[in-house]
Amino acid sequence: MNKNNFFELSFDELENFFTNLGFPRYRARQVFSWIYKNNVYDFKQMSNLSLDLRELLNSSFDLSFPKIQNLVESVDNSLKFLFNLGEDNFIETVFIKHRNRNTVCVSSQIGCPVGCMMCSTGKIGFKRNLKVSEIVLQVLAVESFVKSKMGKIDNLVFMGMGEPMLNFDNVIKAIKILSDKNGKSFSPRRVVISTSGFVDGIKKLKAVNLPIKLAVSLHATTNELRSKLIPINKTFNIDELIKASEEYALASKRRVTFEYVLMESINDSDQDIIRLKDLLKGLHAHVNLVKYNQSLSDVKIKTNIHRIKLFEKMLNNFGIKTTIRFSKGEDINGACGQLALLTELSSSL
Ligand code: SF4
Repeated sequence: MNKNNFFELSFDELENFFTNLGFPRYRARQVFSWIYKNNVYDFKQMSNLSLDLRELLNSSFDLSFPKIQNLVESVDNSLKFLFNLGEDNFIETVFIKHRNRNTVCVSSQIGCPVGCMMCSTGKIGFKRNLKVSEIVLQVLAVESFVKSKMGKIDNLVFMGMGEPMLNFDNVIKAIKILSDKNGKSFSPRRVVISTSGFVDGIKKLKAVNLPIKLAVSLHATTNELRSKLIPINKTFNIDELIKASEEYALASKRRVTFEYVLMESINDSDQDIIRLKDLLKGLHAHVNLVKYNQSLSDVKIKTNIHRIKLFEKMLNNFGIKTTIRFSKGEDINGACGQLALLTELSSSL
């Protein structure tokens, strides 16, 4: 008999499984607790269930984890996992160690169809959306691997491979499973969804009504440039994007982060500072200035740190909360825009 993947199930669906078979509801709470609170991934060890029930669960559900095909560690202690999902499907997930918190950078798609200019993932094309279980298991697998040495996971950021708004339902269901109070209870306030600018996705996220933090990849102050960098700008322009983001900020009561990767002589002029101020002044926004990470492109377009600091100072002087974000994991191609599978796949197979 084909088993169903347990990690596809919400708590309500697990309850239905039990009640449909005539078992009491509380069995769902017991099983969710074993899996998501106690990290027990073997039904046979669930000692408060009868032997028959353990056997039934074992024959009904698959609890296996994806294989770690390759693992690389950065000088800054970030870890990049290459997971083998079977049938020649691979994804990358990054564990980022900060001084006082641990973050998992989660992928939502295999490859990405959006094709942003400064991103390696976009250059490998798009294969498919990840299933709910494949998203949930990235978090559980990374946590299992790092927990004894590095502690528990504090934050999830959907900034890995893919555009999360294009796999919206699965991303939201995975977040709901991980935040279910009967299991892991991971606070949605500690989850960031990053989008390249899918306004319809931002509106759907607003309707979901969870305090998830939204990050928007802005990267340009004119539609002409942004459409070249991020093709979806031709569908949803900067004004629409900023309007939807501000509506989301007001509804969620959470500041939206605008990511701005600085690229020399492309988007780092004095006029860009002024335009950025005009676009964001008065909004519930925060700007993250990001150093460009060399991706598959050979062109050297890193803005120097003095200019990045000038951007930060000027924007803060204009009243726009701005910080410089130093990406982790650049040396292992695990930083923003660098997840491309290529090097690691060829070295690990
Ligand atoms: Fe896709 Fe994000 Fe890369 Fe753009 S930046 S191509 S949306 S993964």
